[in-house]
Amino acid sequence: MGEGRTRFSVEFSPPRDEAGEAQLWRTVRELEQLDPAFVSMTYGAGGSTRDRTVRITGRLARETTLLPVAHLTAVNHSVEEIRSVVGAYADAGIRNVLALRGDPPGDPLGSWQRHPEGVEHAAELVALLRGLGDFTVGVAAFPEGHHRSPDLDTDAVHFVEKLRAGADYAITQMFFRAEDYLRLRDRVVAVDAEQGAKPIVPGIMPVTSLRSVHRMAELSGQQVPPEVVERLERAAGTGETEDREAVREVGVQVATELAERLIAEGVPCLHFYTLNFARATREVLGRLGLATARA
Ligand SMILES: Cc1cc2nc3c(=O)[nH]c(=O)nc-3n(C[C@H](O)[C@H](O)[C@H](O)COP(=O)(O)OP(=O)(O)OC[C@H]3O[C@@H](n4cnc5c(N)ncnc54)[C@H](O)[C@@H]3O)c2cc1C
Repeated sequence: MGEGRTRFSVEFSPPRDEAGEAQLWRTVRELEQLDPAFVSMTYGAGGSTRDRTVRITGRLARETTLLPVAHLTAVNHSVEEIRSVVGAYADAGIRNVLALRGDPPGDPLGSWQRHPEGVEHAAELVALLRGLGDFTVGVAAFPEGHHRSPDLDTDAVHFVEKLRAGADYAITQMFFRAEDYLRLRDRVVAVDAEQGAKPIVPGIMPVTSLRSVHRMAELSGQQVPPEVVERLERAAGTGETEDREAVREVGVQVATELAERLIAEGVPCLHFYTLNFARATREVLGRLGLATARA
């Protein structure tokens, strides 16, 4: 993520079944040709999905030219269990971990319950990882503030604690207004200029359906701004059935405009939430002139 052309990265989730896994591998191979800086794999709440994260991220490390980043959350894990997952990542050849606290399973916006022998905040997870080996550690950042933070300044102070605990960089929650990202960057520098020099990679989700707009709010407490919803609804039309192609065209255009603004502001990398599909990410990269195959 050095000087020069803006890079991009993508996020995947462990698929639920064989069809989903086949779809993921098509996406992986398609995006691999465009040379992403890294690909990250989310970590779910339950045992079987967690096993899949370890297995598929290991396969990405072994069978592709990609740099995999495995997410890890503290939900329902004792420190001992966290050590063991980190050991499994290391055995699978994974050296990059995104350290997250996670949310209560079932109700992401419900009250947080720490495991009795676990950790309370992501900063502790960062410190734990630092002590376990030579990992590159990322953390989450929230341009609009984390939903549990009382205000944006407190949010920035706690975010900086994760960087001070040893995180190398951060990836943000998806957002739609460049100003929210730029203000976060300024707040972090105001708290600690040295830590503020670490990369904060902006997270972008090209919206491809009106349904996903509502789903996003349910899962993250994150609202799509009204001016964006209005553009999408106008594209959907007033007929009985939503004009889905028109909606996704607007979603891709909105993501492209945001990315252009962020590139002008000098971001090192753009992180795309893909939902395991390549098309929207590829289209945005194409419009940005960044969809060139690796040499
Ligand atoms: C890029 C990205 C990837 C993600 N991937 C996943 C995933 O794979 N799996 C998953 O389940 N979830 C994932 N999430 C969601 C994430 O787990 C939730 O948003 C979670 O609520 C916050 O995690 P965190 O690591 O930011 O927590 P923390 O940094 O611990 O923050 C949680 C809250 O506690 C506050 N806080 C922190 N330290 C202190 C302190 N010392 N005193 C008081 N308050 C404090 C923070 O301000 C914040 O409000 C992801 C989020 C992002 C942005």
